[in-house]
Amino acid sequence: MDVYSPKKRSDVMRSIRSRDTAPEVALRKALFRLGYRYRLHVKSLPGKPDIVLPKYRVIVDVRGCFWHGHDCGDGHIPETRREYWSPKISGNMARDRNHEERLSKLGWKVLVVWGCECTPTRIGGTVGKISAVLRETLAVS
Ligand SMILES: [Zn+2]
Repeated sequence: MDVYSPKKRSDVMRSIRSRDTAPEVALRKALFRLGYRYRLHVKSLPGKPDIVLPKYRVIVDVRGCFWHGHDCGDGHIPETRREYWSPKISGNMARDRNHEERLSKLGWKVLVVWGCECTPTRIGGTVGKISAVLRETLAVS
């Protein structure tokens, strides 16, 4: 059972949607502080990826947990109107997979970061992991 009334639920969903970009902003600020330079929302690449680091040929794809079906608390689909949300979310997930495949065929490494990994308490660790991958990428190339 959904714990929210339909009205409250739609408010919650709207706030999740508008917050969707907050993790991305937090993440790119943190990367910038570490000296990484990137391009944003590159239209010429499949899926118009959020954060592109051309020097490393790495893409950081920041996904909102709810809209992209993350297996975490924020990604939980409410019981009520499940038939409404499920197809939208599976559609997003299928698109994500498709973009990821096309990008990797083009020689890009795609790092998926979830919204819940960009909270103030977790973002440090997340950026640390990205940074480690980037250093490794330069070392092998
Ligand atoms: Zn999540």
